[in-house]
Amino acid sequence: MGMLDGKVALVTGASRGIGRAIALELGKHGASVVVNYRERKEQADEVVHEIKKMGSKAIAIQADVTKPEQVDAMVGQVVKELGQVYILVNNAGTTADRTLRRMSKEEWLKVIDTNLNGVFYVTSRVVQSLEAGGGGHIIMLSSIIGEMGNAGLVNYGSTKAALIGFTKSAAQELVRFNILVNAVAPGFIETDMIVNLPDEARQTLLDKTPMRRFGRPEEVATMVRYLVTEGTYITGQVFNINGGMYM
Ligand code: NAP
Repeated sequence: MGMLDGKVALVTGASRGIGRAIALELGKHGASVVVNYRERKEQADEVVHEIKKMGSKAIAIQADVTKPEQVDAMVGQVVKELGQVYILVNNAGTTADRTLRRMSKEEWLKVIDTNLNGVFYVTSRVVQSLEAGGGGHIIMLSSIIGEMGNAGLVNYGSTKAALIGFTKSAAQELVRFNILVNAVAPGFIETDMIVNLPDEARQTLLDKTPMRRFGRPEEVATMVRYLVTEGTYITGQVFNINGGMYM
């Protein structure tokens, strides 16, 4: 028996990177996993296939988290096909790096819309399901950038800092429904978000990291799984997974 047998977990942006690793980790422990994605259907289907091979249920659902009507349809489908949600992982995120002097309104809004408004649309909708099921967990993907900042990332850093405020406020509001809300704040993790940076930028990030290596998506997933299986007295907290960076 897995610790999450029969529990429904919705992971946004689970077609690749950290979201994929979280979906697999929760599936490994018995959760019925919803693999949300925006456009990479093939990769999302592959994650579903991997989870099913481990003996757990999984479905892939396309929904853009910036579109409330798509979010509503997704959550409706989840409840109908799998039951009430027990774990929500707000993982979907994006970047549009540019110095403040050159950043366009579109680059600002794209990141705010996905990383912050999207979290609001998904969370406010899923809370009804968490409550109906008797409680559960919400995990946010914040970032070291939300805590210490980085040149060229005012849009991204603003959203990731905002998620810490979101986490702490929602935790206080939802505790009476037995819903625990926490955030993880990864450092630099080896995913498309980092792989696609120029070599010089990658080296700068490594130089900032005491452990002198990028983290693996699985190292973030382990913390998320711990919080949703063992974190019975933890809410409103932020957990750093960053190879030793110190703020
Ligand atoms: P990634 O490899 O770029 O993957 C992003 C995921 O989000 C994909 O599954 C993508 O779906 C999905 N997505 C993007 N926009 C979406 C939207 N509007 N609606 C639904 N899904 C959407 O990212 P990652 O590096 O794994 O990062 C995952 C999370 O961790 C993000 O919130 C990121 O900010 C945070 N984080 C990452 C790092 C890092 O170093 N990598 C560090 C700290 C925090 P498609 O594949 O279909 O496009």
